[in-house]
Amino acid sequence: MKALYSDADLKNALQHFASVVGGDWLFSGPDDIATYTDAYSPFALEPDLQLLPAAAIAPITVEQVQQIVRIANRYKIPLYPISTGRNLGYGGAGPTMRGTVMLDLKRMNRILEVNEKEAYALVEPGVSFFDLYHHLRDHKIPLLVSTPEPGWGSPIGNALDHGIGGIAGDNFAQIHGLEVVLPNGELLRTGSGASRNSYLWQNYRYGFGPHIDGIFSQSNFGIVTKAGFWLQRAIGVQQSFMVTSFKSEDLSRMTDALQLLRSQDLIRQFGCGSPIRGANSTVDGHISQHIPEVSTLLKRQDGGSFEEWDALGKRVNVPVSIAFADMRGPKTIIDAALQIARDLFAGIEGAQFNAAVPVTLPADPAEINDENKGNVGIPQLWGFNRLTLQGTSRGHYYLSPLCKPNAADLFALNDTIRRVILDAGDMPMLEHYGWQPGLGAYPKALMILMDFLVYDDAKLNQRRRELFRRIATACAAHGWTEYRTPAAFQSEVMDLYSFNNHALRRFLETLKDAIDPNGILAPGKAGIWPKSQRSTNT
Ligand SMILES: Cc1cc2nc3c(=O)[nH]c(=O)nc-3n(C[C@H](O)[C@H](O)[C@H](O)COP(=O)(O)OP(=O)(O)OC[C@H]3O[C@@H](n4cnc5c(N)ncnc54)[C@H](O)[C@@H]3O)c2cc1C
Repeated sequence: MKALYSDADLKNALQHFASVVGGDWLFSGPDDIATYTDAYSPFALEPDLQLLPAAAIAPITVEQVQQIVRIANRYKIPLYPISTGRNLGYGGAGPTMRGTVMLDLKRMNRILEVNEKEAYALVEPGVSFFDLYHHLRDHKIPLLVSTPEPGWGSPIGNALDHGIGGIAGDNFAQIHGLEVVLPNGELLRTGSGASRNSYLWQNYRYGFGPHIDGIFSQSNFGIVTKAGFWLQRAIGVQQSFMVTSFKSEDLSRMTDALQLLRSQDLIRQFGCGSPIRGANSTVDGHISQHIPEVSTLLKRQDGGSFEEWDALGKRVNVPVSIAFADMRGPKTIIDAALQIARDLFAGIEGAQFNAAVPVTLPADPAEINDENKGNVGIPQLWGFNRLTLQGTSRGHYYLSPLCKPNAADLFALNDTIRRVILDAGDMPMLEHYGWQPGLGAYPKALMILMDFLVYDDAKLNQRRRELFRRIATACAAHGWTEYRTPAAFQSEVMDLYSFNNHALRRFLETLKDAIDPNGILAPGKAGIWPKSQRSTNT
């Protein structure tokens, strides 16, 4: 990797940064820098590979951000923006290139507006899901915020990385209007916010001309300093249902039924899977059921026939197929929608339909299990308790490919991953992975999550990184591409989006060179490198 700057330039730049934010908000000591790394780094125990920043600065105003960007350009110092910096599993609080200066926006934490009637908030990057949730509760505003499982992240950081929340699913879809500091320090508002009176900024996101919000997500084209984030109504009830069966072939009709319901907006988040096949998995801290025959079938070259899995499921009384979904809205509508779902699944002989007790919205935290809080819009950190069962304190990183919302694709995706692990001879990983369900946070796609644990063993970590690459490549060959990936793998994953000789990456590089000629913004984010770094990194 080529050095972007000299030691003298860094020193001068840091002095200038300090004059902008105040010395207390410039962090350059080793202990401080250590907090701006990926706490779940795949390179634990390999210090030469760690993506360590050079320093961090924490501005509090948009003007400060603009000044920092101008100084960074003068000295060619790369900056990496984070909002709350909790991107554990996908890069944490660290950069995508060593030697970058972290631009920590957590002090910009004002909730600028909550419009109750129109159900949106205008927030700064440092506002967390907890902040927004407590603001709504404290002001008795009947709106829900689409928090991901851990509530310490931010609507802006989570959405910009295409994160998913329990209430709305696709959180980037909730973004309506961005304010962005461009790599030259200029301030831009997108969509309707680009008019002189940005009255409709959070109401109509397209404005006029090309809709460009997307280019600021999973990218290095700008620093988002404000965003409109749509909220959902806390009216009526939320109710989930689950359908189980002891036949593998039912999964196909069950996923089709989910799609039918989803396309009519009768359900929101949904998922499906095969509990018997996943019974021994420990992904994300789940507890293995230790059924020996499950391991035997998964380790067999052919992966077991439908008949064998069905017989095993019946014998140990673990369902073979499962479908589940959430509904939300006025009680009378949900009662009717539930009946429609019940009738639909009744067509699948032997399938059991179970509806959970409806939760009145906004949900009372005292009445909801920690595990389910995120699904009803209550931010929490309970998931980290589950992770204490992982058997390592070094965390994990996620492989997260998408497939079509049907059983054939989900079976094929799981089988492809299983075969790559078998081929690599990594039996502990096969035990850990097992067989993963498909999660329908996006309306017409299923996502599976595979966590790669990081151990106190550098050689094992290296082998696992290689396995990650092999699986991601095998999946991409079928079109099952990653929706998001840890900082360490972003260039490789972008490489897999290779249609027409990498036309997408070439277009993004053209854009990068035009708007950030000095390459100062997050070099390497999403595999987009500035010209000066390209030959060595792509
Ligand atoms: C146990 C566990 C459960 C998880 N569950 C979920 C889940 O349910 N859903 C989910 O989506 N994720 C989940 N995650 C992943 C992650 O923790 C969350 O997505 C988290 O919200 C991301 O951190 P953040 O919001 O602080 O974003 P940040 O870390 O601040 O930002 C993420 C990335 O976006 C970019 N970015 C951030 N702010 C800006 C800005 N202002 N301008 C330009 N670019 C910016 C940067 O590239 C940054 O690296 C989970 C992780 C763990 C360990």
